[in-house]
Amino acid sequence: MTERAQLVETFMEDVRARNTGQDEFLQAVEEVAEDVLTIEKNNPDYARNKVLERLSEPDRIIGFRVVWEDDAGEYHINRGWRVQFSNAIGPYKGGIRFHPSVNASVLKFLGFEQIFKNALTGLPLGGAKGGADFDPKGRSDREIMRFCQAFMGELGRYIGPDRDVPAGDINVGTREIGYLFGAYKKLQGEFHGAVTGKGEAFGGSAMRVEATGYGLIYFVQAMLNETGQEIEGKRIAISGKGNVATHAAEKAAQLGAKVISLSDTSGTLVAEDGLSLEQIDWVRQQKRQGLDISAPPGGAVFEPDTLPWALEADIALPCATQNEMDEKSAKDLIDSGVRLIAEGANMPLTADAVHAVREGGVSYAPGKASNAGGVAISGLEMSQNAHRRSMTADQVDQELKKIMCMIHERTIREGKTGNGIDYRCGANIAGYRKVADALVAYGTM
Ligand code: NDP
Repeated sequence: MTERAQLVETFMEDVRARNTGQDEFLQAVEEVAEDVLTIEKNNPDYARNKVLERLSEPDRIIGFRVVWEDDAGEYHINRGWRVQFSNAIGPYKGGIRFHPSVNASVLKFLGFEQIFKNALTGLPLGGAKGGADFDPKGRSDREIMRFCQAFMGELGRYIGPDRDVPAGDINVGTREIGYLFGAYKKLQGEFHGAVTGKGEAFGGSAMRVEATGYGLIYFVQAMLNETGQEIEGKRIAISGKGNVATHAAEKAAQLGAKVISLSDTSGTLVAEDGLSLEQIDWVRQQKRQGLDISAPPGGAVFEPDTLPWALEADIALPCATQNEMDEKSAKDLIDSGVRLIAEGANMPLTADAVHAVREGGVSYAPGKASNAGGVAISGLEMSQNAHRRSMTADQVDQELKKIMCMIHERTIREGKTGNGIDYRCGANIAGYRKVADALVAYGTM
């Protein structure tokens, strides 16, 4: 065993003992530990401050019951959480997810990753994540509203513009944020930007909806430019059909790439010649209305129960959910010639898949870096709210491009190796250093 592997194993033994059964969280911590523990060991300040051990324990986890009434008058009880992971460099910041798979482990992994991602943006944002095991599928608009109001009735007392600023995530989009923010505002009796992703009529930023997907493509462009390539003409396989997936598809198609797939839990929409902007918009409208994508308009086919990873692509962008790409899918992609994988979702590759793509010489960007555009524009929304001003879509888009390029630069600065760029290592180290320096300055606080 190498010295680095020994360091990681010793560290993880303790983390595993304290977080039994929390597989997603352990996966996320181990990945960071592999990249930063040697740096921590060799820096006396970081080592004395036990930076990664501290960062592996959330500041606090708030758990609560959410009681709501469906349209038939029946009461339902769900579980809600907010994991306030670290406010070392700014107020807690991270999305809210509504999905039956949500539990403490999933939210801890997301909150932990958010610490490093937010640090990478260069903005003063801490890390957090929240959500509920509520399944919105098949629920009416009024049921969604009542759930959001009940959820915020509990969460509202723990958040605030300088304390903790939630945003959207899976199944929490502009509509849900409207209900959540409306409930928060009523609860507080004051109007301040304690939630981001708001509608533009009430303090939201232009381009927040597009930011994660567009930012992902700007990051991919920066990666391609590094080796003298362009995105135009590239075949791009994308998974998911939600906010991140459809906006990444839209920007890629606008830039002349061929987006050959989108997908959901029931199968893959394939267009060998590339999806048109109209088809991408059709997918978005179907998703918005809770409808499936099994009968696409001409020129695309829906293949039930398949993944996009068997397609022949130059670039793959997993944009659906965690651990959606396993080792076999990663190897299929490598065999069929994929040269670049950038994560739109959070931790969409299993640990084995990450190992396979790095061994296979694929340029691989972790979500911490490549999907940070959404939280970056949320950061701009916070500052627009604080200054009671708003920026135009064009200004925000320019800012987004600049931020994604800066994240790319920070990442490659730490990730340059003798034979290329290790984006995962670069992102983990750059995010870690910023938070570590703050913790060292605070002492034991
Ligand atoms: P959405 O709720 O808008 O969309 C998620 C979509 O993914 C759904 O349509 C769902 O399909 C599909 N999906 C879920 N699991 C799978 C699967 N195993 N295979 C294929 N499709 C699947 O979510 P977002 O687009 O907002 O989020 C997607 C990912 O991006 C998440 O990991 C999120 O944490 C991450 N992210 C989101 C940000 C944002 O700004 N929204 C910011 C940064 C990261 P179905 O309809 O069948 O359930």
